[in-house]
Amino acid sequence: MVHDLKLSFFGAAEEVGRSCIFLESDHAKVLLDAGIKLGKHIEYPNIPPSIVKDLDAVILSHTHLDHSGYLPHLFAMGYTGKVYATKPTIELTNVMLSDYISISAPKDVTNKTMDLLHKSYEIAEFREPFKIKDLDVEFFQSGHILGSSMVRISDGRKALFYTGDLQLAKTRLLGGADLKNVSAETLLMECTYGSKKDVFPPESVTVKKMLSSINETIKTGGKVMIPSFAVGNAEQVLLMLDDYMNSGVIQKVPIYVDGMINKAMRIHRHNVIYARKELQMRILMSDYDPFRSPNFMPIENKGARGDVVKKEEGCIIVTTSGMIVGGPILFYLSKLAGNPRNKLLQIGYQAAGTTGRELQDGAREITIDRRKVKVGLTIENYHLSAHGDRPQLDLLLKRVHGLKRVFLIHGEAEKLAEFKGDISNRFDVVIPRQGERYDV
Ligand SMILES: [Zn+2]
Ligand SMILES: [Zn+2]
Repeated sequence: MVHDLKLSFFGAAEEVGRSCIFLESDHAKVLLDAGIKLGKHIEYPNIPPSIVKDLDAVILSHTHLDHSGYLPHLFAMGYTGKVYATKPTIELTNVMLSDYISISAPKDVTNKTMDLLHKSYEIAEFREPFKIKDLDVEFFQSGHILGSSMVRISDGRKALFYTGDLQLAKTRLLGGADLKNVSAETLLMECTYGSKKDVFPPESVTVKKMLSSINETIKTGGKVMIPSFAVGNAEQVLLMLDDYMNSGVIQKVPIYVDGMINKAMRIHRHNVIYARKELQMRILMSDYDPFRSPNFMPIENKGARGDVVKKEEGCIIVTTSGMIVGGPILFYLSKLAGNPRNKLLQIGYQAAGTTGRELQDGAREITIDRRKVKVGLTIENYHLSAHGDRPQLDLLLKRVHGLKRVFLIHGEAEKLAEFKGDISNRFDVVIPRQGERYDV
């Protein structure tokens, strides 16, 4: 016996997308996440079929497709083991994956594959350790989205801590990552915002600016579009808009909610026990349900979508996808992007290669369904991301006890290199590449 843990990286290596890390112990073979990379083309993790067949378990940190989107393909390749995740992650993943499969229609995935996946789920609760063969596994709140987890895995000799995606600060929805008494020698950390320049103002400052910008546009009868991730910043921004509309800070106009967000909101409502305490109390102590606010107007079909763009009124449209790679936002932009009275507010991470990133970088013409669309509206960026910024990543390194080795993943290559330069005097820092294997 070698008595070593081994890690192989099949994705999220010098990139944000297709998180997929293979962990081997003396007796267990486990996959940490099974994601895809979204962009103009979908990219899969480079995991060899021989490894998939031998897997004992998949640990799913959270529902975003860059962590969960490869699951159906694993089952299509013959995987027969369990998928461990929290209850909200399981429910949200079912919605996200059925949307992904119906839109991208991958040839290898059948109804039978999806049935196998649905039967494979095992609920993991936060801070309730369980065993996978010789491994002790424990989930911790990661503060990123509802049900999102960090995972500590130990073979009794060594421990590693995988952050998934994390947010240390409190948000409207969640109470921040739970890092109380966490120890591990090895850390696998996401670095979406790993550059020293990635320092964001407090949410209150961002929100104030955003609200006055929204008011400015609605006053002139313009439409404000907010492309959002169905799970995560959509709920955050909707709770915020509802709150400030009720208190009169923003003018009362319809908030149209289109796409998968409506389903995700229902799942948030009945899993509110996983949200921050203040939100739970508010729902318990009053009749008010912010997830089903009368300020929200769900858009249920294409006809209704057409009416929204035709109506001469100021309004707010919150819809998917967050990085403008699909979803109803493409329709709204194709109709509304030309009018300088309208506004596009980008609130989350925009990965390289997405239309969202092009717009963020100043593109004044984009392609939607092979048609060129002129961009005449105002574009503004606000940080309402569910990811921690660089000071929070530095804080994470202080909060995990006994750290010796740090793997930097889930980040753009330049940010990872910069981060490594800043911390390599304190830790053994590795930026793993696709397909590389390491002893831990
Ligand atoms: Zn995520
Ligand atoms: Zn991610």
